[in-house]
Amino acid sequence: MRNYLPIFILPILAGCTTMQSAKAVEVSEVITADLARADGSWAGVATISQRKDGTFLSLSAEAPAAGSYGMHLHAVGKCQGPDFTSAGPHWNPDMKQHGRDNPMGAHHGDLPNVDAAADRKITLEYKLSDFMLSGPSGLLDADGGALVIHEKADDYKTDPSGNSGKRIICGVFKSGNRG
Ligand code: ZN
Repeated sequence: MRNYLPIFILPILAGCTTMQSAKAVEVSEVITADLARADGSWAGVATISQRKDGTFLSLSAEAPAAGSYGMHLHAVGKCQGPDFTSAGPHWNPDMKQHGRDNPMGAHHGDLPNVDAAADRKITLEYKLSDFMLSGPSGLLDADGGALVIHEKADDYKTDPSGNSGKRIICGVFKSGNRG
C-alpha cells in the first residue's frame, strides 16, 4: 500500500504586495516620465517631486522650434504615437471646463504654456497647486497619467483643450516609474 502525501495548493495572495507599496509612497516621492515625439524619438524628461515645500513639475525637453507651447497633464498614462490620443482628455477629476481664464474652469491638468528659446530647449520648474498624486482622484490612479505638449500655445479659455492643436510630445507617469 502506498502512502500519498496530500498536496495543498496555497492560495496566492496576489494583491498584498501591491497594496503595501501603494501605501508606503504617499509621503514624499519623485516620479519621472520619458518624453517621446510623435515618431517615437526621445524628447526629454519630466519629473514630479513631492517635497516639504510643495509638489513641483520639472521639465527638460526639446521643442521642434522656438515658440510657445500648450502643456497639460492628461488622464491616461498611455502615449501611442503618432497622435497620442491614447493619453485621453486633460486630467479633470473635478469635472470642470478647460482653461484658467474660463469661469467654468479649470481642469486639474491645465498648466501654463511653456516657451522654447532659439536653441529649442524647454527648461522649467513649476509648482503644482492642489496636486493629488495618490488616491481615487490622484494623477496616479489605475491607468496613470501623461504629460502632453501641444503644437500651439493654449489660449487658456477654449474648452476642452485651449485650441492648442496636435499633441506633439508625450510622456507617461505611472506608479511603476516611481524612484
Ligand atoms: Zn484643460
